[in-house]
Amino acid sequence: MKALVIGCGIGGPATAMALREVGIDAEIFEAYDGTAEGVGSFLNVASNGLDALRTLGAHRAVMAAGIPTPHMVMWSGTGKRLGEVANGLALDDGTVSHTILRSDLYRIVRDEAAARGITISYGKRLVSYDDTGDQVTARFADGTEASGDLLIAADGVHSRTRAQLDPKAPQPRYSGLYSFGGIVRDPRFTGEPGVYHMVFGKRGFFGYTVAESGDTWWFANLPRELGDVPADWKPVLVEAFKDDTNFSAEIIRGSEVDLALPVHDLPPLRTWHKGRVVLTGDAAHATSPSSGQGASQAIEDAIVLARCLRDAPGHEEAFERFESERRERVERVVAYSRTISNSKAAGPVGRVFRDLMMPLFLKKTASQESLSWMYRHHVSL
Ligand SMILES: Cc1cc2nc3c(=O)[nH]c(=O)nc-3n(C[C@H](O)[C@H](O)[C@H](O)COP(=O)(O)OP(=O)(O)OC[C@H]3O[C@@H](n4cnc5c(N)ncnc54)[C@H](O)[C@@H]3O)c2cc1C
Repeated sequence: MKALVIGCGIGGPATAMALREVGIDAEIFEAYDGTAEGVGSFLNVASNGLDALRTLGAHRAVMAAGIPTPHMVMWSGTGKRLGEVANGLALDDGTVSHTILRSDLYRIVRDEAAARGITISYGKRLVSYDDTGDQVTARFADGTEASGDLLIAADGVHSRTRAQLDPKAPQPRYSGLYSFGGIVRDPRFTGEPGVYHMVFGKRGFFGYTVAESGDTWWFANLPRELGDVPADWKPVLVEAFKDDTNFSAEIIRGSEVDLALPVHDLPPLRTWHKGRVVLTGDAAHATSPSSGQGASQAIEDAIVLARCLRDAPGHEEAFERFESERRERVERVVAYSRTISNSKAAGPVGRVFRDLMMPLFLKKTASQESLSWMYRHHVSL
């Protein structure tokens, strides 16, 4: 059996590796010409994502390139310390969430897949596919084609595969927030390694952590009309954070803004698979970044899908089992993440209420045990 995997982000290589483990050949087709070396900013790989990477034997390089970030301290924009919570839950062996440059994570999973003999073809933008019932053919923008037994979409939140699989599928939903990120080295910015400082500012949300190297890694979320894009984001961000009492505006002033993106998630889809084609990762269930779970969910999908394909009598039954094992969990993550995003975009009244209630809430949830469903979920092949 041969699978065409569309997209070489995070889920694509993970899927190809998982398929190889169960004896299914996979080839990855990526739209961009080169690799994702230039992709900016960083992301959080939660403990459940690291656990899933371990199932694939690919966790060590990710942990070595990332920084352990087990704690979060929450602040109001007026400088009030609202409380402290765990950033996820540690696994039984003590593994905690890690923060890693996005480009490093992409490179590591891609290199790991290539090292296992998986072919990755670049400059192959899927434009359509043809499922004849006994095989599936992918057509690419460069005029070439590839055929296989299955087509697995790992082509992200704006998935082309999804648009063909179900033309009535809901469109990605704008969260009302733009997300920004950057890295700066400035000895004035200090912080205990492993701690994220999260600031519910007057006009936007700001997070940063100081790595052992002395670099400050920061991100910001700003409520904004979709498409309202200035020529230069930096002055907009400095203005948005200048009245907060921490040094968000200073950090931004000294940095390049490496990432500026509108944040989307995906409403629940009616259809995850049809015939020989199945959606995975963000293509099936994109979550807003607030949960720090999108990458981890894509990696979990990869393992569950491979197991279902190995154990089910046929691909359609395998896709059904995959959906029934994954749907409830990922929809819960999307809903949870959306709630957090909404609290970041609170208006003036909501803000006062939030800052009053947050210390009580944080006290109750400090250990994050109530989120064990998210962080202590193990998927096996
Ligand atoms: C600002 C921001 C911050 C985030 N922070 C976090 C975080 O802290 N933790 C976390 O876990 N997640 C985070 N996420 C989410 C995470 O990035 C995604 O959930 C994850 O990348 C999903 O993996 P994927 O493989 O499904 O899609 P992607 O990683 O998006 O990969 C899709 C790939 O498909 C390719 N592609 C697209 N169209 C085609 C086509 N037609 N043909 C061929 N190839 C195609 C793309 O070029 C890309 O390489 C964040 C997302 C954003 C936007």
